[in-house]
Amino acid sequence: MSFDSLGLQADLLRAVATQRYARPTPIQLQAIPEILAGHDLLAGAQTGTGKTAAFVLPLLQRLSEKGHPQRHPRALILTPTRELAAQVGERVHAYGLHLPLRSAIVFGGVGMQPQVNQLQRGVDVLIATPGRLLDHAGRRTVDLSRVEILVLDEADRMLDMGFIHDIRRIIQLLPERRQNLLFSATYSDDIRRLADGLLKRPKLIEVARRNTAAETVVQAAHPVDKARKRDLLAHLFRREGWHQVLVFTRTKAGANRLVEHLGREGITAAAIHGNKSQSARTRALDDFKRGSVRALVATDIAARGLDIVDLPQVVNFELPNVAEDYVHRIGRTGRAGAGGKALSLVSHDERGLLQGIQRLLRREIALDPVVGFEPSLVPPESEPDRSLGGRRDSRGPSRPARKPAAAAASPAGKRPWRGGDRRGRGATP
Ligand code: AMP
Repeated sequence: MSFDSLGLQADLLRAVATQRYARPTPIQLQAIPEILAGHDLLAGAQTGTGKTAAFVLPLLQRLSEKGHPQRHPRALILTPTRELAAQVGERVHAYGLHLPLRSAIVFGGVGMQPQVNQLQRGVDVLIATPGRLLDHAGRRTVDLSRVEILVLDEADRMLDMGFIHDIRRIIQLLPERRQNLLFSATYSDDIRRLADGLLKRPKLIEVARRNTAAETVVQAAHPVDKARKRDLLAHLFRREGWHQVLVFTRTKAGANRLVEHLGREGITAAAIHGNKSQSARTRALDDFKRGSVRALVATDIAARGLDIVDLPQVVNFELPNVAEDYVHRIGRTGRAGAGGKALSLVSHDERGLLQGIQRLLRREIALDPVVGFEPSLVPPESEPDRSLGGRRDSRGPSRPARKPAAAAASPAGKRPWRGGDRRGRGATP
């Protein structure tokens, strides 16, 4: 099947040809005709499946067919993070290169005025994070009453990040009659409730079951005492000669501390998480993509949606509390069929989390010790959390290890995308 057979107009096909995509991905094959036909959509697809083109291409076509550019946005794409907004905005620009449609991106952490100026000049496609969009709506610098198509991209992440009230407020500002497209990597009760209230007779599409990334990525795990994780990571950087590694920590503070430690070990590193300013996040990502920073240390939410071409290696410095997040993390590498590697450093208290991940993936991830970093034979009852900056107390019992939320947090349920819901996550990402 080629792009030509999907019903897309010549101007869009020209733009797609520039991208050198050989053929549509499964989500594109399924979603594009449905969106062109005007249906609402509930689509289960992760980043890396080509989902952005799956909604951007037909969205641009419908706007260009249905009339001339107007001052107020006719399509609204909501994303959970600034990075994803920027990436989607860049795709809208690339695919719409030969169409007379204007797009704008609005997100927080940067000045309002340039966004206001751009909105005033007129925008057909608006890509926005919810909070900043509501700021604009409150100041009446954007009018959402002409929106014909609403896209919720990575809706599950938006709910995880607590945007549900913002989303509901935004929906109230939209006209009743419109096309709604909801994309979510996972499927929880919250997503179902949102979809039920939002979508009218939606077409259901599901691609890339939650364990597909796991099938293209070579996975390994090293058992190690928690207190030695940082040293093991630095050792691996040297031994493997790694130049571009995305490292996941559970917390923002943990990410910062790890960056400092790697720096002391002579390994260039930058952190990317929600406490960083937008310019710091953009700089860190650019440096990492350019190769001037060898380690990008990220929390789950910050890393979501990052599209780094040919990322060779992901390291789970800590396992995520929710097994599905492991799949998202390792999905950062091995994209579009390219080979990738994912390595997890597993301390004794994380064994339960590893079991939960193995259950979800239905495969074993062998624990292979690194010479010189073998874990203590008798695990301490509660390992001191030195890897995250905790202090070893030599006089008294060490503080209790964080209780593993463990496998039970994410049973491999029978629902199409995911079983559990995310309430009860341990640390703030
Ligand atoms: P997405 O899932 O939208 O984040 O897209 C992931 C990556 O796949 C992006 O780098 C896209 O440029 C790329 N991509 C999108 N569609 C295709 C396609 N049909 N063939 C190859 N790569 C694609």
